[in-house]
Amino acid sequence: MPASPLAPAWLSFPEDVNALRPLEWAAGVSRSENDDALSIQGISVTDLAAEFGTPLYVMDADDFRARARAFKNAFDAAFQDICGGVDVYYAGKAFLSFDVARWVKDEGLRLDTCSGGELALALRAGLDPENIGLHGNNKSKAEITKAIEVGLGRIVVDSLDELERVSQIAEQLGKQANVMLRLTPGVHAHTHEFIATAHEDQKFGLSMVEGDPLLDGAGEVEGKSPAAVAVSRGLKDPNINLLGLHSHIGSQIFDTDGFALAAERMVTFLGAMSQDHGVVLKELDLGGGFGIAYTEQDEPRTPEELSTQMAEIVKSTCAKVGIESPRISIEPGRSIAGPSTFTLYEIGVRKTVIVDSELGDSPRHYVSVDGGMSDNARPVLYDADYSAVLASRTSQADAIISRVVGKHCESGDIVVKDAYLPADLTAGDLLAVPATGAYCWALASNYNYLGRPAVVAVSGGEAQLMIRRETEDDLFDRDLGAK
Ligand code: PLP
Repeated sequence: MPASPLAPAWLSFPEDVNALRPLEWAAGVSRSENDDALSIQGISVTDLAAEFGTPLYVMDADDFRARARAFKNAFDAAFQDICGGVDVYYAGKAFLSFDVARWVKDEGLRLDTCSGGELALALRAGLDPENIGLHGNNKSKAEITKAIEVGLGRIVVDSLDELERVSQIAEQLGKQANVMLRLTPGVHAHTHEFIATAHEDQKFGLSMVEGDPLLDGAGEVEGKSPAAVAVSRGLKDPNINLLGLHSHIGSQIFDTDGFALAAERMVTFLGAMSQDHGVVLKELDLGGGFGIAYTEQDEPRTPEELSTQMAEIVKSTCAKVGIESPRISIEPGRSIAGPSTFTLYEIGVRKTVIVDSELGDSPRHYVSVDGGMSDNARPVLYDADYSAVLASRTSQADAIISRVVGKHCESGDIVVKDAYLPADLTAGDLLAVPATGAYCWALASNYNYLGRPAVVAVSGGEAQLMIRRETEDDLFDRDLGAK
């Protein structure tokens, strides 16, 4: 069967429909020639499905830990001579469980949380509060209170309102709050491009643009940027221990120029603040957002490439503005968790439709699986692309353009929009979708009263249930009418 006119331009016709593209899969996943089924660290997916059911998130725990280590080692090495190394905060929003929190700690990373729930998990998992950060553009009083009470290493303050709120709560508690200020450095990054103008029009962070209608007319701050005002207030406030500045330019970014530009602007701003106030803030967090491979369109940068480029820019900009480099930190989430996991589904029904295309009528296979937008909301939310392979066996059938869809009552419930899959897929076959370790379980819902799938972690050739599947009782537990 020839390539389909329905395939997007980026999707190539596969030479071997059973082949795995290594960048999309965890290190432990393979399909050996004698072994039809996909396996992870030697465990067949058919055995995993039989023991734990489907849909199932299958995580290569060793792969997760290796990626965490790789970021720490590469950034430490690149920044050693500049600021003595880097603090790597794993962004827990990508995927967080008690085990994950402990692995992160054991690998020498810290943890970035962005809600009271994530913070509570980190504390209960036994992480040192000093090594935890708290984000959020609208933190509640309870979240701020908890953070200050336990002596959190950093609260990343997002606005002038919040700076005031943190100060008041710290005063009431009689404790200083450790604060970083999140700024918007004017770099709005998309996957393959960055434009330096669109940044202002979003909810996060303190603007670095001078003049703010809410501030102008307030005397001492006239004409200054909200970021500069926050630095000046933070430095004067006895309730605030102002550690430094933070920026995060977006997610799933491949173009390192965006990171470089943000780093340059942040360091330049630090230089300006040191001129104004006579102190160099001690810390600078350059955020996360490093892209991973979901499909053949994506060519991720290695931690070595990223760290080398960022180190060069920090070093040269510090020299230019005449300051010592602050301690650098980063917050990767997706690039550590994403590739570690694939989702295993069972195929239920199929159908073929004939689609009108410029090159004439063409068939598309629809393949329905036993999960969908409740276990992976990213295609619906962000139009995200994924790939898929037949996992329980190999096939010699022709590759046909296919769409993998879920079982929800939404026609937009798409798991994989475009993939070449064998034409002989049938009910009971298992399908694996790679790179689902970040923002899939974390964004999972109970839409249509589907229970959220289990997460199995594989390490040292052993599979262990990490998070169990939701049961019918779990689903109805909070509905008081069910009692
Ligand atoms: N830091 C902040 C402030 C974020 O908002 C995010 C993601 O939204 C991250 C880090 C992690 O980004 P990623 O998972 O793309 O590395």
